[in-house]
Amino acid sequence: MKKITIAIDGFSSTGKSTLAKELANHLGYIYVDSGAMYRAVTLFAMQNGYIKSDFFDKETLVNSLSAIKLNFKFNPDLGFAEMYLNDVNVENEIRTIEVSNLVSKVAEVSQVRTKLVEQQQEMGKNKGIVMDGRDIATVVFPDAELKIFMNASAQTRAQRRYDELISKGQDVTFEEVLNNVQERDYIDTHRDDSPLIIADDAIEIDNSYLNKKEQFDLVVELVNDITNSI
Ligand code: C5P
Repeated sequence: MKKITIAIDGFSSTGKSTLAKELANHLGYIYVDSGAMYRAVTLFAMQNGYIKSDFFDKETLVNSLSAIKLNFKFNPDLGFAEMYLNDVNVENEIRTIEVSNLVSKVAEVSQVRTKLVEQQQEMGKNKGIVMDGRDIATVVFPDAELKIFMNASAQTRAQRRYDELISKGQDVTFEEVLNNVQERDYIDTHRDDSPLIIADDAIEIDNSYLNKKEQFDLVVELVNDITNSI
């Protein structure tokens, strides 16, 4: 069966990564969480004191980009690849609310985007990849055979993210998570470089009222239609 490129974009906490992971496992494709890469660069900036809630030294971050090495390593126990920053596993650290609160500011920086997009395109050069993010269908893989745009109401998304953070033992309130979701939506859709937009040829899925299985079956059907027609 011919392998294709699958781009999944959408707002935060729309279940992109859950769908993308399941799809990649089902198809035997590589899965790449591009958001993890922006989160790892943010963690690097935090660790070095380049960014805080009221301060961002963009210039020093940009000048330090060559010191940032990002890798994904597959963890067979978890069934997906974890994020490594300069050879250290940062999969848990990058998921905290502190990183979530700063990541969209880092993702606005064009030099950061250029570096990460280059690495993402390299990972997808042989197709057989599912990548999720905000600019995958528009910038990273504009020629992807299948483009999905996922959406759900901000309340639904915040509830999902809140439940996830609480289950991991993090100390957050629902309001804090809702504010973070709304703030990231705003920054991600209004930035100058590669804002989150729906690609003309993307298929939009609003999963506020769709369960995981219904959504998965829908997308598998789309993949089968495409792979059978090429
Ligand atoms: O997908 P996730 O919510 O983990 O992404 C974190 C943040 O990284 C997003 O809110 C967005 O600011 C940024 N991002 C991006 N482009 C991508 C993936 C993520 O700007 N392709």
